Amino acid sequence: MKISEKGQVLLAKYKKFQKLYFLLLLLAAISFVYLHNIFLMIAIVAFTFVLEAKVYICPHCKKTFDCKRKIQEDTSCPHCKKYLFKDLG
Ligand SMILES: [Zn+2]
Repeated sequence: MKISEKGQVLLAKYKKFQKLYFLLLLLAAISFVYLHNIFLMIAIVAFTFVLEAKVYICPHCKKTFDCKRKIQEDTSCPHCKKYLFKDLG
């Protein structure tokens, strides 16, 4: 099945966020190791979790899903079992 334009936009958004997520965790590590600032680290990690909950939402049932799982073209939602991208109209 081909992915619709809407599905491709969503997939690109998730992939972009995966890079940002990695960068934020790196920043958190830097603030702990080099700046010895545990509060900054906790703040960054908390911000990352909030962002994660806002970004990784199933387009069908609107529930958040585990972002640690690899997002691919044929990834399906753990809640409604629909394909995240393929089932987008
Ligand atoms: Zn769903």
